[in-house]
Amino acid sequence: MRTVDELCRDADQRDAQADPLDALRDAFAPGAPGTIYLDSNSIGPMPRAAPRRMAGLLEDGWRVARREGWNLRGPSGHWLEQPRLLGAALARVLGAHADDVLVCDSTSINHFKLLCHGLAASGRNVIVIERDVFPTNRYAAQGAAERTGAQLRTIAGIEDLDDALAAGDVGVVSLSHVDYRSSRRLDMAGVSARIRARGALSLWDLSHSAGAVDVALRANGADMAVGSGYKYLCGGPGAPSFLYLHPRWRDAASPVLRGWMGHADAFAFHPDYEPAPGIARFLSGTPAVLANSAFAAAAELWRQVDPAALDARHRALTDWLIEALDEQCSELGIEVASPRAHRERGGHVSLRFAAAAALARAMIAEGVILSARQPDALRLAVHPLTTRYAELARAVAAMRRILSDGSWRDPRFAADAN
Ligand SMILES: *Cc1c(COP(=O)(O)O)cnc(C)c1O
Repeated sequence: MRTVDELCRDADQRDAQADPLDALRDAFAPGAPGTIYLDSNSIGPMPRAAPRRMAGLLEDGWRVARREGWNLRGPSGHWLEQPRLLGAALARVLGAHADDVLVCDSTSINHFKLLCHGLAASGRNVIVIERDVFPTNRYAAQGAAERTGAQLRTIAGIEDLDDALAAGDVGVVSLSHVDYRSSRRLDMAGVSARIRARGALSLWDLSHSAGAVDVALRANGADMAVGSGYKYLCGGPGAPSFLYLHPRWRDAASPVLRGWMGHADAFAFHPDYEPAPGIARFLSGTPAVLANSAFAAAAELWRQVDPAALDARHRALTDWLIEALDEQCSELGIEVASPRAHRERGGHVSLRFAAAAALARAMIAEGVILSARQPDALRLAVHPLTTRYAELARAVAAMRRILSDGSWRDPRFAADAN
Protein backbone atom coordinates (compact mmCIF):
# COMPACT_ATOMS: atom_id res chain seq x y z
CA MET A 1 0.00 0.00 0.00
CA ARG A 2 1.21 3.47 -0.87
CA THR A 3 1.75 6.00 1.87
CA VAL A 4 -0.41 9.12 1.80
CA ASP A 5 2.61 11.07 0.53
CA GLU A 6 3.07 8.63 -2.33
CA LEU A 7 -0.60 8.82 -3.18
CA CYS A 8 -0.48 12.62 -3.26
CA ARG A 9 2.69 12.60 -5.38
CA ASP A 10 1.05 10.31 -7.91
CA ALA A 11 -1.95 12.64 -7.98
CA ASP A 12 0.24 15.70 -8.51
CA GLN A 13 2.02 14.01 -11.39
CA ARG A 14 -1.29 13.24 -13.06
CA ASP A 15 -2.53 16.78 -12.54
CA ALA A 16 0.64 18.06 -14.20
CA GLN A 17 -0.12 16.15 -17.42
CA ALA A 18 -1.86 18.21 -20.07
CA ASP A 19 -5.50 17.39 -20.73
CA PRO A 20 -7.67 18.81 -23.52
CA LEU A 21 -10.18 20.02 -20.93
CA ASP A 22 -7.68 21.93 -18.78
CA ALA A 23 -8.59 25.32 -20.24
CA LEU A 24 -12.18 24.92 -19.15
CA ARG A 25 -11.27 24.41 -15.51
CA ASP A 26 -10.23 28.05 -15.30
CA ALA A 27 -13.67 29.03 -16.55
CA PHE A 28 -15.11 27.91 -13.19
CA ALA A 29 -14.83 29.91 -9.98
CA PRO A 30 -13.18 28.17 -7.02
CA GLY A 31 -15.37 27.11 -4.09
CA ALA A 32 -14.92 27.94 -0.42
CA PRO A 33 -11.21 28.04 0.51
CA GLY A 34 -9.86 24.81 1.92
CA THR A 35 -12.74 22.67 0.69
CA ILE A 36 -12.74 19.74 -1.70
CA TYR A 37 -15.97 19.63 -3.61
CA LEU A 38 -17.39 16.22 -4.47
CA ASP A 39 -21.06 17.13 -4.58
CA SER A 40 -21.80 18.18 -8.17
CA ASN A 41 -24.68 15.72 -8.10
CA SER A 42 -26.34 18.26 -5.83
CA ILE A 43 -25.15 21.64 -7.21
CA GLY A 44 -22.46 21.91 -9.87
CA PRO A 45 -19.73 24.58 -9.59
CA MET A 46 -20.27 28.15 -10.80
CA PRO A 47 -18.86 29.40 -14.11
CA ARG A 48 -16.89 32.61 -13.54
CA ALA A 49 -18.98 34.35 -16.19
CA ALA A 50 -22.30 33.73 -14.41
CA PRO A 51 -22.36 36.75 -12.02
CA ARG A 52 -21.34 39.19 -14.77
CA ARG A 53 -23.93 37.81 -17.10
CA MET A 54 -26.69 37.98 -14.50
CA ALA A 55 -25.66 41.47 -13.38
CA GLY A 56 -25.79 42.66 -16.99
CA LEU A 57 -29.26 41.28 -17.40
CA LEU A 58 -30.49 42.87 -14.16
CA GLU A 59 -29.01 46.24 -15.15
CA ASP A 60 -29.67 46.47 -18.90
CA GLY A 61 -32.65 44.18 -19.06
CA TRP A 62 -34.62 44.83 -15.91
CA ARG A 63 -33.60 48.21 -14.49
CA VAL A 64 -33.27 50.06 -17.77
CA ALA A 65 -35.13 48.22 -20.51
CA ARG A 66 -38.05 46.95 -18.42
CA ARG A 67 -40.75 45.84 -20.90
CA GLU A 68 -38.38 46.50 -23.79
CA GLY A 69 -36.27 43.71 -22.35
CA TRP A 70 -38.44 41.30 -24.32
CA ASN A 71 -36.90 42.75 -27.48
CA LEU A 72 -33.29 42.93 -26.31
CA ARG A 73 -30.57 41.09 -28.20
CA GLY A 74 -27.08 40.14 -27.08
CA PRO A 75 -26.04 38.46 -23.81
CA SER A 76 -28.81 40.20 -21.82
CA GLY A 77 -31.49 39.46 -24.40
CA HIS A 78 -33.26 36.70 -26.32
CA TRP A 79 -35.54 36.13 -23.35
CA LEU A 80 -38.14 34.15 -25.25
CA GLU A 81 -35.65 32.27 -27.40
CA GLN A 82 -33.48 31.26 -24.45
CA PRO A 83 -35.11 27.81 -23.91
CA ARG A 84 -34.20 26.83 -27.47
CA LEU A 85 -30.83 28.59 -27.50
CA LEU A 86 -29.81 26.83 -24.28
CA GLY A 87 -31.04 23.53 -25.65
CA ALA A 88 -28.98 24.03 -28.80
CA ALA A 89 -25.90 24.87 -26.72
CA LEU A 90 -26.29 21.69 -24.66
CA ALA A 91 -26.92 19.50 -27.69
CA ARG A 92 -23.26 18.61 -28.21
CA VAL A 93 -22.62 17.29 -24.72
CA LEU A 94 -25.92 15.39 -24.84
CA GLY A 95 -25.12 13.84 -28.21
CA ALA A 96 -28.22 15.45 -29.70
CA HIS A 97 -29.02 17.84 -32.53
CA ALA A 98 -29.78 21.46 -31.79
CA ASP A 99 -33.50 21.06 -32.44
CA ASP A 100 -33.85 18.03 -30.18
CA VAL A 101 -33.38 19.86 -26.88
CA LEU A 102 -35.28 22.46 -24.90
CA VAL A 103 -34.44 23.99 -21.52
CA CYS A 104 -37.47 24.78 -19.38
CA ASP A 105 -39.32 23.89 -16.18
CA SER A 106 -38.02 21.38 -13.64
CA THR A 107 -36.97 17.79 -14.24
CA SER A 108 -40.09 16.65 -12.41
CA ILE A 109 -42.37 18.63 -14.71
CA ASN A 110 -40.58 17.63 -17.90
CA HIS A 111 -40.69 14.00 -16.82
CA PHE A 112 -44.44 14.27 -16.39
CA LYS A 113 -44.84 15.97 -19.77
CA LEU A 114 -42.87 13.25 -21.56
CA LEU A 115 -44.60 10.37 -19.76
CA CYS A 116 -47.88 11.68 -21.13
CA HIS A 117 -46.32 12.26 -24.55
CA GLY A 118 -45.08 8.67 -24.65
CA LEU A 119 -48.54 7.35 -23.91
CA ALA A 120 -50.16 9.60 -26.50
CA ALA A 121 -47.53 8.98 -29.18
CA SER A 122 -47.61 5.20 -28.79
CA GLY A 123 -51.37 4.94 -28.35
CA ARG A 124 -50.72 2.52 -25.51
CA ASN A 125 -51.89 2.51 -21.93
CA VAL A 126 -49.11 1.29 -19.63
CA ILE A 127 -46.22 3.14 -17.97
CA VAL A 128 -43.31 0.99 -16.77
CA ILE A 129 -41.05 2.35 -14.05
CA GLU A 130 -38.46 0.92 -11.68
CA ARG A 131 -39.43 0.69 -8.02
CA ASP A 132 -36.39 2.33 -6.47
CA VAL A 133 -35.85 5.31 -8.76
CA PHE A 134 -35.53 8.86 -7.47
CA PRO A 135 -38.93 9.35 -5.81
CA THR A 136 -40.02 12.39 -7.82
CA ASN A 137 -40.13 10.22 -10.94
CA ARG A 138 -42.41 7.72 -9.26
CA TYR A 139 -44.70 10.46 -8.02
CA ALA A 140 -44.96 11.90 -11.53
CA ALA A 141 -45.68 8.46 -12.97
CA GLN A 142 -48.36 7.81 -10.35
CA GLY A 143 -49.96 11.17 -11.12
CA ALA A 144 -49.76 10.67 -14.88
CA ALA A 145 -51.30 7.21 -14.61
CA GLU A 146 -54.07 8.42 -12.33
CA ARG A 147 -55.01 11.34 -14.57
CA THR A 148 -54.76 9.59 -17.93
CA GLY A 149 -56.32 6.31 -16.85
CA ALA A 150 -53.09 4.52 -17.70
CA GLN A 151 -51.79 1.59 -15.72
CA LEU A 152 -48.53 1.81 -13.78
CA ARG A 153 -46.43 -1.35 -14.03
CA THR A 154 -43.64 -1.24 -11.45
CA ILE A 155 -40.59 -3.44 -11.91
CA ALA A 156 -38.11 -4.35 -9.17
CA GLY A 157 -35.17 -3.86 -11.52
CA ILE A 158 -34.06 -3.76 -15.13
CA GLU A 159 -33.90 -7.60 -15.21
CA ASP A 160 -37.71 -7.56 -15.17
CA LEU A 161 -38.05 -5.23 -18.15
CA ASP A 162 -38.65 -7.91 -20.78
CA ASP A 163 -41.44 -9.51 -18.73
CA ALA A 164 -43.04 -6.11 -18.21
CA LEU A 165 -42.87 -5.41 -21.96
CA ALA A 166 -44.18 -8.88 -22.83
CA ALA A 167 -47.22 -8.33 -20.60
CA GLY A 168 -48.37 -5.93 -23.29
CA ASP A 169 -49.71 -2.43 -23.99
CA VAL A 170 -46.58 -0.64 -22.77
CA GLY A 171 -46.42 2.92 -24.09
CA VAL A 172 -43.50 4.35 -22.18
CA VAL A 173 -40.68 3.01 -20.00
CA SER A 174 -39.17 5.54 -17.60
CA LEU A 175 -35.64 4.73 -16.48
CA SER A 176 -32.84 6.36 -14.54
CA HIS A 177 -29.81 6.26 -16.78
CA VAL A 178 -27.74 6.28 -13.60
CA ASP A 179 -29.08 5.28 -10.20
CA TYR A 180 -28.86 8.14 -7.70
CA ARG A 181 -27.59 5.87 -4.95
CA SER A 182 -25.43 3.11 -6.43
CA SER A 183 -24.38 5.04 -9.57
CA ARG A 184 -25.21 1.98 -11.68
CA ARG A 185 -25.48 3.05 -15.34
CA LEU A 186 -27.80 1.23 -17.72
CA ASP A 187 -26.89 0.28 -21.28
CA MET A 188 -28.92 2.98 -23.00
CA ALA A 189 -28.47 1.63 -26.51
CA GLY A 190 -29.41 -1.95 -25.71
CA VAL A 191 -32.33 -1.11 -23.43
CA SER A 192 -33.73 1.54 -25.78
CA ALA A 193 -33.65 -0.94 -28.65
CA ARG A 194 -35.54 -3.55 -26.61
CA ILE A 195 -38.19 -1.00 -25.67
CA ARG A 196 -38.59 0.19 -29.24
CA ALA A 197 -38.82 -3.33 -30.59
CA ARG A 198 -41.99 -3.64 -28.50
CA GLY A 199 -43.45 -0.42 -29.88
CA ALA A 200 -42.92 1.57 -26.69
CA LEU A 201 -40.90 4.74 -26.06
CA SER A 202 -37.92 4.99 -23.73
CA LEU A 203 -37.74 7.95 -21.33
CA TRP A 204 -34.34 8.45 -19.69
CA ASP A 205 -33.54 10.57 -16.65
CA LEU A 206 -29.95 11.75 -17.10
CA SER A 207 -29.64 13.74 -13.86
CA HIS A 208 -26.60 11.70 -12.76
CA SER A 209 -24.90 11.35 -16.13
CA ALA A 210 -25.38 14.46 -18.30
CA GLY A 211 -22.30 16.67 -18.01
CA ALA A 212 -20.31 13.89 -16.34
CA VAL A 213 -20.07 11.14 -18.96
CA ASP A 214 -20.84 10.70 -22.66
CA VAL A 215 -24.60 10.11 -22.88
CA ALA A 216 -24.85 10.13 -26.71
CA LEU A 217 -28.65 10.33 -26.85
CA ARG A 218 -29.01 10.07 -30.62
CA ALA A 219 -26.40 7.36 -31.10
CA ASN A 220 -27.91 5.33 -28.28
CA GLY A 221 -31.38 5.52 -29.79
CA ALA A 222 -33.13 7.20 -26.85
CA ASP A 223 -36.67 8.33 -27.61
CA MET A 224 -37.04 10.89 -24.83
CA ALA A 225 -34.90 12.21 -21.99
CA VAL A 226 -34.86 14.73 -19.18
CA GLY A 227 -32.17 15.78 -16.75
CA SER A 228 -31.23 18.26 -14.11
CA GLY A 229 -29.69 21.58 -15.13
CA TYR A 230 -28.17 22.39 -11.75
CA LYS A 231 -26.12 19.24 -11.14
CA TYR A 232 -23.19 18.38 -13.44
CA LEU A 233 -24.42 20.84 -16.06
CA CYS A 234 -23.68 23.74 -13.68
CA GLY A 235 -26.73 25.83 -14.56
CA GLY A 236 -27.01 27.29 -11.06
CA PRO A 237 -29.25 26.55 -8.05
CA GLY A 238 -32.70 25.54 -9.27
CA ALA A 239 -31.70 25.89 -12.94
CA PRO A 240 -34.33 24.64 -15.37
CA SER A 241 -34.11 21.13 -16.69
CA PHE A 242 -33.46 19.94 -20.23
CA LEU A 243 -35.95 17.98 -22.26
CA TYR A 244 -34.90 15.84 -25.24
CA LEU A 245 -37.16 14.33 -27.83
CA HIS A 246 -36.08 12.26 -30.81
CA PRO A 247 -37.49 13.87 -33.98
CA ARG A 248 -39.46 10.75 -34.89
CA TRP A 249 -41.82 11.59 -32.00
CA ARG A 250 -41.65 15.35 -32.21
CA ASP A 251 -44.95 16.05 -33.91
CA ALA A 252 -46.60 12.85 -32.73
CA ALA A 253 -49.00 14.37 -30.22
CA SER A 254 -50.06 17.53 -28.47
CA PRO A 255 -48.43 18.22 -25.12
CA VAL A 256 -50.39 17.59 -21.95
CA LEU A 257 -49.30 20.93 -20.44
CA ARG A 258 -50.24 23.49 -23.02
CA GLY A 259 -49.46 27.16 -22.89
CA TRP A 260 -49.09 30.16 -25.09
CA MET A 261 -45.30 29.83 -25.36
CA GLY A 262 -45.79 26.45 -27.03
CA HIS A 263 -48.44 27.77 -29.42
CA ALA A 264 -47.76 27.95 -33.15
CA ASP A 265 -48.32 31.72 -33.00
CA ALA A 266 -48.09 32.89 -29.38
CA PHE A 267 -48.68 36.56 -30.09
CA ALA A 268 -51.78 35.99 -32.21
CA PHE A 269 -53.57 35.30 -28.90
CA HIS A 270 -55.71 32.71 -30.59
CA PRO A 271 -58.56 31.27 -28.50
CA ASP A 272 -57.65 27.70 -29.44
CA TYR A 273 -54.43 25.82 -29.01
CA GLU A 274 -52.37 24.88 -31.99
CA PRO A 275 -49.01 23.27 -31.15
CA ALA A 276 -45.86 24.95 -32.42
CA PRO A 277 -43.94 22.80 -34.88
CA GLY A 278 -41.16 20.75 -33.36
CA ILE A 279 -39.95 20.68 -29.81
CA ALA A 280 -41.09 24.25 -29.03
CA ARG A 281 -44.57 22.87 -28.32
CA PHE A 282 -43.20 21.56 -25.02
CA LEU A 283 -42.92 25.10 -23.70
CA SER A 284 -45.84 26.19 -21.63
CA GLY A 285 -45.44 29.62 -20.03
CA THR A 286 -42.94 32.45 -19.90
CA PRO A 287 -39.33 31.31 -19.47
CA ALA A 288 -37.43 31.88 -16.20
CA VAL A 289 -35.33 34.70 -17.68
CA LEU A 290 -33.01 35.24 -14.70
CA ALA A 291 -32.35 31.54 -14.21
CA ASN A 292 -31.72 31.10 -17.92
CA SER A 293 -29.17 33.90 -17.80
CA ALA A 294 -27.14 32.00 -15.21
CA PHE A 295 -27.49 28.77 -17.18
CA ALA A 296 -26.26 30.52 -20.34
CA ALA A 297 -22.85 31.01 -18.74
CA ALA A 298 -22.49 27.25 -18.39
CA ALA A 299 -24.10 26.51 -21.75
CA GLU A 300 -21.43 28.60 -23.49
CA LEU A 301 -18.83 26.33 -21.91
CA TRP A 302 -20.65 23.13 -22.85
CA ARG A 303 -20.51 24.16 -26.50
CA GLN A 304 -16.74 23.77 -26.28
CA VAL A 305 -16.72 20.33 -24.67
CA ASP A 306 -16.06 17.22 -26.70
CA PRO A 307 -18.17 14.53 -24.99
CA ALA A 308 -15.56 11.85 -25.72
CA ALA A 309 -12.89 13.90 -23.95
CA LEU A 310 -15.28 14.53 -21.05
CA ASP A 311 -15.95 10.82 -20.74
CA ALA A 312 -12.27 9.93 -20.91
CA ARG A 313 -11.37 12.41 -18.20
CA HIS A 314 -14.21 11.25 -15.95
CA ARG A 315 -13.17 7.67 -16.43
CA ALA A 316 -9.53 8.35 -15.61
CA LEU A 317 -10.42 10.31 -12.47
CA THR A 318 -12.96 7.84 -11.12
CA ASP A 319 -10.87 4.74 -11.95
CA TRP A 320 -8.03 6.33 -10.01
CA LEU A 321 -10.34 7.21 -7.11
CA ILE A 322 -11.71 3.68 -6.87
CA GLU A 323 -8.22 2.20 -6.85
CA ALA A 324 -7.14 4.61 -4.13
CA LEU A 325 -10.23 3.85 -2.03
CA ASP A 326 -9.70 0.10 -2.39
CA GLU A 327 -6.12 0.49 -1.34
CA GLN A 328 -6.52 2.96 1.53
CA CYS A 329 -9.98 2.35 2.97
CA SER A 330 -11.25 -1.17 2.21
CA GLU A 331 -9.67 -2.71 5.30
CA LEU A 332 -11.41 0.01 7.33
CA GLY A 333 -14.91 -1.10 6.33
CA ILE A 334 -15.43 0.86 3.11
CA GLU A 335 -16.80 -1.04 0.14
CA VAL A 336 -17.05 0.37 -3.37
CA ALA A 337 -20.71 -0.16 -4.26
CA SER A 338 -20.78 1.31 -7.75
CA PRO A 339 -19.85 -0.90 -10.68
CA ARG A 340 -16.15 -1.20 -11.52
CA ALA A 341 -16.49 -0.77 -15.26
CA HIS A 342 -16.76 2.88 -16.22
CA ARG A 343 -19.43 2.27 -18.87
CA GLU A 344 -21.60 0.86 -16.06
CA ARG A 345 -21.07 3.85 -13.76
CA GLY A 346 -22.37 7.42 -13.72
CA GLY A 347 -21.14 10.71 -12.33
CA HIS A 348 -20.47 9.64 -8.76
CA VAL A 349 -18.59 6.84 -7.08
CA SER A 350 -20.80 5.21 -4.50
CA LEU A 351 -19.47 3.60 -1.34
CA ARG A 352 -21.20 1.36 1.13
CA PHE A 353 -20.69 2.05 4.82
CA ALA A 354 -23.18 1.22 7.58
CA ALA A 355 -22.87 4.68 9.19
CA ALA A 356 -22.70 6.57 5.89
CA ALA A 357 -24.49 9.69 7.20
CA ALA A 358 -22.13 10.08 10.19
CA LEU A 359 -19.07 9.52 8.01
CA ALA A 360 -20.33 12.11 5.52
CA ARG A 361 -20.74 14.68 8.31
CA ALA A 362 -17.27 13.93 9.62
CA MET A 363 -15.82 14.34 6.12
CA ILE A 364 -17.69 17.61 5.59
CA ALA A 365 -16.31 18.88 8.92
CA GLU A 366 -12.86 18.24 7.39
CA GLY A 367 -13.76 20.25 4.31
CA VAL A 368 -14.53 17.32 2.00
CA ILE A 369 -18.00 18.02 0.66
CA LEU A 370 -19.86 14.85 -0.31
CA SER A 371 -23.24 13.32 0.46
CA ALA A 372 -24.91 10.29 2.00
CA ARG A 373 -28.15 8.62 0.97
CA GLN A 374 -30.24 6.25 3.07
CA PRO A 375 -29.53 3.64 4.16
CA ASP A 376 -25.78 3.19 3.66
CA ALA A 377 -24.59 5.01 0.52
CA LEU A 378 -21.81 7.57 0.48
CA ARG A 379 -21.55 9.48 -2.80
CA LEU A 380 -18.40 11.10 -4.18
CA ALA A 381 -19.33 13.06 -7.27
CA VAL A 382 -16.47 13.74 -9.66
CA HIS A 383 -16.84 16.65 -12.07
CA PRO A 384 -14.63 16.05 -15.09
CA LEU A 385 -14.26 19.77 -15.82
CA THR A 386 -13.12 20.82 -12.35
CA THR A 387 -12.03 17.92 -10.13
CA ARG A 388 -8.29 17.35 -9.74
CA TYR A 389 -6.44 14.19 -8.77
CA ALA A 390 -4.87 16.05 -5.84
CA GLU A 391 -8.33 16.71 -4.44
CA LEU A 392 -9.25 13.06 -4.75
CA ALA A 393 -6.04 12.08 -2.98
CA ARG A 394 -6.74 14.46 -0.11
CA ALA A 395 -10.32 13.21 0.15
CA VAL A 396 -9.15 9.59 0.35
CA ALA A 397 -6.49 10.51 2.91
CA ALA A 398 -9.10 12.31 5.03
CA MET A 399 -11.41 9.31 4.87
CA ARG A 400 -8.63 6.96 5.92
CA ARG A 401 -7.76 9.22 8.86
CA ILE A 402 -11.37 9.55 10.02
CA LEU A 403 -11.97 5.82 9.77
CA SER A 404 -8.68 4.97 11.49
CA ASP A 405 -9.13 7.24 14.48
CA GLY A 406 -12.88 6.58 14.67
CA SER A 407 -13.68 10.28 14.83
CA TRP A 408 -16.83 9.75 12.76
CA ARG A 409 -18.30 8.21 15.93
CA ASP A 410 -18.25 11.60 17.63
CA PRO A 411 -21.81 12.40 18.84
CA ARG A 412 -21.85 15.65 16.87
CA PHE A 413 -21.89 13.64 13.65
CA ALA A 414 -24.80 11.49 14.80
CA ALA A 415 -27.46 14.19 14.36
CA ASP A 416 -30.49 13.55 12.16
CA ALA A 417 -29.69 12.95 8.53
CA ASN A 418 -30.05 15.89 6.14
C1 LIG B 1 -32.02 15.64 -8.84
C2 LIG B 1 -32.95 14.74 -9.55
C3 LIG B 1 -34.18 15.21 -9.99
C4 LIG B 1 -34.59 16.60 -9.63
O1 LIG B 1 -35.82 16.96 -10.09
P1 LIG B 1 -36.29 18.45 -9.88
O2 LIG B 1 -37.60 18.51 -10.52
O3 LIG B 1 -35.25 19.35 -10.47
O4 LIG B 1 -36.37 18.73 -8.41
C5 LIG B 1 -34.97 14.35 -10.75
N1 LIG B 1 -34.56 13.10 -11.03
C6 LIG B 1 -33.40 12.61 -10.57
C7 LIG B 1 -32.99 11.23 -10.90
C8 LIG B 1 -32.57 13.42 -9.82
O5 LIG B 1 -31.42 12.95 -9.36
